[in-house]
Amino acid sequence: MIGKIVKQISNDYTVKIEDKTIVCKSRGKFRKLKITPLVGDNVEVDLNNKYILEVLKRKNELLRPSIANVDQAVIITSVSIPDYSSNLLDKLLVIIEFNKIKPIICFTKMDLISNEKRLEIEEIINYYKSIGYNVYINKEENIKQIFKDKITVFTGQSGSGKSTLLNMLDSSLNLKTGDVSIALGRGKHTTRHTELIELLGGLVADTPGFSSVDFKGMKREDIRDNFIEFNEYKQACEYRDCMHVKENNCAIKQAVIDGKILKDRYDNYLKFIRGES
Ligand code: ZN
Repeated sequence: MIGKIVKQISNDYTVKIEDKTIVCKSRGKFRKLKITPLVGDNVEVDLNNKYILEVLKRKNELLRPSIANVDQAVIITSVSIPDYSSNLLDKLLVIIEFNKIKPIICFTKMDLISNEKRLEIEEIINYYKSIGYNVYINKEENIKQIFKDKITVFTGQSGSGKSTLLNMLDSSLNLKTGDVSIALGRGKHTTRHTELIELLGGLVADTPGFSSVDFKGMKREDIRDNFIEFNEYKQACEYRDCMHVKENNCAIKQAVIDGKILKDRYDNYLKFIRGES
């Protein structure tokens, strides 16, 4: 039987098979092969002996939290307390893209800002939408539709409004997630177990999302290639491997001058590849 691991506590794996869950052990061979079954894995299970027999091919794998086959990451982006940080948003977008996960941007606390600031943020929202991202404002009803049949992780600054969002999505969920925080940077590693919980027809990770936010394992070129709107222009750069910094006849720099690429985002790009933040 094929099922999905929804919870792990040391060597006890809770596997969901259709509407039932059973607790299985992983077979010793996995330890020999250095393949550790992860939450999110689709696995073949020996129902009689309650063993995981095989881990099916993964689409992707996150390390912190340890989850396989993540479909999407909701980046919770506060516009007030804490203030909007394009730097953090762009950094998360690049890291999430690099991990072959679909990013979804959710702006929160829009009701706390002035009209002037709101117009500014709306322009930013329109830009991200124009380059192909799904952007929501936390009180939009249609955000409820994105979870069905997907594995979702949440990420964003501490205090960005995750609990409020989850409470809006499903009031029973908030109790389950309790005091799980999504603090970034020096995240506290208080829980060792990972669990996927049901939300609106899908599964969400009940863990801090992306507890460390850095470009670990990424080359400068990876950062460049995951600024997705650059790909639309780069063929017109004079140099095939253009880094879009000091090169002559760079189509990206021209697009920034022409206002086609958001300058703030390009500035973040420069910071990232220079290792400034
Ligand atoms: Zn260029």
